[in-house]
Amino acid sequence: MQLKIYNSLAGEKEIFKPILEGNVGMYVCGPTVYSNVHLGNVRTFLSFDFIYRSLTHLGYKVRYVRNITDAGHLTDDGDVNNDRFVKQTRLEKLEPMEIVQKYTVDFHKVLDMFNLLPPNIEPTATGHILEQIELTQKLIETGFAYESNGSVYFDVLEYNARGLNYGELSKRNIEELFANTRDLDGQGEKKNPQDFALWKKASPAHIMRWNSPWGEGFPGWHLECTAMSTKYLGETFDIHGGGMDLKFPHHECEIAQGKACNGASPVNYWMHANMLTMNSQRMSKSTGNYILPMQLVSGENDFFEKPFHPAIVRFCFLQAHYRSVLDISNDAMLASEKGFSRLMEALKILNSITPNDEKRSGFSLEDWKTKAYDALTDDFNSPVLIAHLFEAVKFIFALKDEKETISAKDLEDLRSTLNAFVFDVLGLQNIEENNNEKLDQTLQVLIELRNQARRSKNFDLSDQIRDKLLAEGIELKDGREGTTYSIS
Ligand code: AMP
Ligand code: ZN
Repeated sequence: MQLKIYNSLAGEKEIFKPILEGNVGMYVCGPTVYSNVHLGNVRTFLSFDFIYRSLTHLGYKVRYVRNITDAGHLTDDGDVNNDRFVKQTRLEKLEPMEIVQKYTVDFHKVLDMFNLLPPNIEPTATGHILEQIELTQKLIETGFAYESNGSVYFDVLEYNARGLNYGELSKRNIEELFANTRDLDGQGEKKNPQDFALWKKASPAHIMRWNSPWGEGFPGWHLECTAMSTKYLGETFDIHGGGMDLKFPHHECEIAQGKACNGASPVNYWMHANMLTMNSQRMSKSTGNYILPMQLVSGENDFFEKPFHPAIVRFCFLQAHYRSVLDISNDAMLASEKGFSRLMEALKILNSITPNDEKRSGFSLEDWKTKAYDALTDDFNSPVLIAHLFEAVKFIFALKDEKETISAKDLEDLRSTLNAFVFDVLGLQNIEENNNEKLDQTLQVLIELRNQARRSKNFDLSDQIRDKLLAEGIELKDGREGTTYSIS
């Protein structure tokens, strides 16, 4: 089985060859933790969660690094006073690290809700200031960067003069870039408007600041990712991911920094996930066309007619390939809910099927598995994989209606393969099973409270618990082994 990955740098699908056989180093740009993540952000992280799960399922040992940007991500106009953290700190009257903590906790909670696996390393920008200062020093020493008024900039023209190609990822031409850029960021400090900041001098308004050889300041956003990715994955590593919108300038700058520092391209496969739109408009906080994940799950929003379970949202997201735009709408969510229920029902039926060796099948398990793995290894094609899963679903319903048969060996194989695809690779959760588990936990708490009431001879309370549960159709039975329950 050969894994093919669409490499944004090459502009085509390539056969994946890891640097170290059987191992993958993968870095994904994490969130800027100055406000709640919206559903669009979730889509990008979920796409890479699926890729991480797929790589693991295919047998690779993956070191997955996803950072937290907790300093130094300026707004597009480059004005230090518009630094996202500084602005939010003023707005919420909180310390910068309180903002960071509040939204990091929110980020983890949201991703957990959608069943995303945690990365193996989650480094923060503020925890790697020294590494960033060292990289900046190295770039000055090698002539790729210069200091200007307490800030340090990467010299893009010098980079190109040495035969390197700024613009290779985003396929931009440096002359065009120069013609189309206004110098808003450097305010006269830069040699050229395309030069980008490695280190920024802190203005009096700036509260997140560190000492450096160039005075007090803070690191540039692009440099953070170079410092953290190369520290944990090496000067050249296998996969770097992020949202499509990060290709330029963020990832372009990472390539330039990596090549200038180490003389080698930092990444072998660049992967970019496409955007989430809602009602055909890009989801973004700045336009107001956004929804917070909790609002979709709780139903408290103006866009959707009902609440949707996170597993259904996840299923909806995976029905589009990670490189395609996905439009979320009420109809799309309702359709996903229907598909999800049918898939879960098929899995339930599969557990009660009795094998039968009589040959009748128009369904070849081997062919089906090959097609499913072909989809997975064809640049992680989740919609095609899901379409194949539904072929199996159709077969399972035919088994139930006794129109098809399956041998014991194939039944075992189908069960384990389908479960692996649904739960391990797609990362879906069985809502019904989860609910049952929760109900059981709740009833155990009530049984314990009733026992405590009886021990303290509060029979009024213990009888009330028993009678009220009975009125809800839950009967408690006291036996030698303790109290059990049955639900009618
Ligand atoms: P940020 O916290 O703004 O740095 O964004 C975190 C990630 O979310 C980045 O990888 C962005 O590319 C991604 N992102 C932002 N908006 C969207 C969207 N509408 N759809 C998908 N991904 C998005
Ligand atoms: Zn990054």
